[in-house]
Amino acid sequence: MELILEKVKGHSGDAMNEMADELAKSTGNSNHYFNNRFNYSNRTVRFFPIFKQIPIEYNLRKFIKTLMNTRVAAEWSILKTNEYETPINWNITWNLIYRYKGFNCISVKKYWHLIFITKLFAKLLPIGTILLQKKPNIYKDFVCPRCNANKEESRYHFIECDANKKLWPIIKNKMQDDLVPIIQKLNDSPENSSKIISEKLNQILGSQHDNNKFTDFCLLALEAKINTNFSKISKQTFGLSESKNILLLASLLDSCIIHFKELIWLPRCNATVAWEKARNIRRKDKLNRSENMDRYYKSSHQNSKHLRQDKQYLKENNLIDSHTGRKVKNQAPIGA
Ligand SMILES: [Zn+2]
Repeated sequence: MELILEKVKGHSGDAMNEMADELAKSTGNSNHYFNNRFNYSNRTVRFFPIFKQIPIEYNLRKFIKTLMNTRVAAEWSILKTNEYETPINWNITWNLIYRYKGFNCISVKKYWHLIFITKLFAKLLPIGTILLQKKPNIYKDFVCPRCNANKEESRYHFIECDANKKLWPIIKNKMQDDLVPIIQKLNDSPENSSKIISEKLNQILGSQHDNNKFTDFCLLALEAKINTNFSKISKQTFGLSESKNILLLASLLDSCIIHFKELIWLPRCNATVAWEKARNIRRKDKLNRSENMDRYYKSSHQNSKHLRQDKQYLKENNLIDSHTGRKVKNQAPIGA
């Protein structure tokens, strides 16, 4: 049996759709009713779902969802952008994102924080290098708006920028203030006075804000990530279990991001707005989708439309497809 599925918008006045609706309602109790539970069978309908010759003894809807999620996760994990010199401890990032999950309904502030983290994570925060990629026409002369070094605003520039020189030590102190009570809660031992914890934090983050340890930490933190080396050292230093160490490091990451946003990112955004105003760049100019992307979407959409029309024409006229050398057969639409 060949089955073609095509999605029709509900209640769209499509006669066949209305008919299917009526049928679906009326057969609820009859034995022609089809239920996609894997263990459902009756005298009329007998089936057992199989995937690659393995029986699916699992809710079908859930199975398809899991299958799709696995595919997306697999594709994501092999992206070049996820290759790092030292491997990333993804559990920490996951824990951080999970903290803000579901908050979007009750707290606008937390919702925006989640968006901010997500943008950092996906390397999509609109810093100079990203702006230049998205809108080369508008931002071709854009350099860091907060110092006079005339430098491209890359992620690294946030660390070395003169305007931030005095801010990073403040961020580091704030991170330490945030973390001391959290660590005391996680490892409730009399040895853990605030002074000792601060010293230990200095051990893992470096005692000066501009040393390599702290710079390396911040560079990755601006992508909402921590590498496995760092998490190993932290685990040893604080004598924590794996799961408690993840909680600790997710808090450290969060603290770093919160203070970065407040002390560095927001002033930077104000400076960027002033830069745009001085050049008469309007909101409308920024909102338009980039011309390149626009062209890309249009052409790919049109390409697939033409391809479909061509196939339809070949099929109707019983012609041979020049690409495949075969007659065009009826095919299920992609995505069905
Ligand atoms: Zn700068």
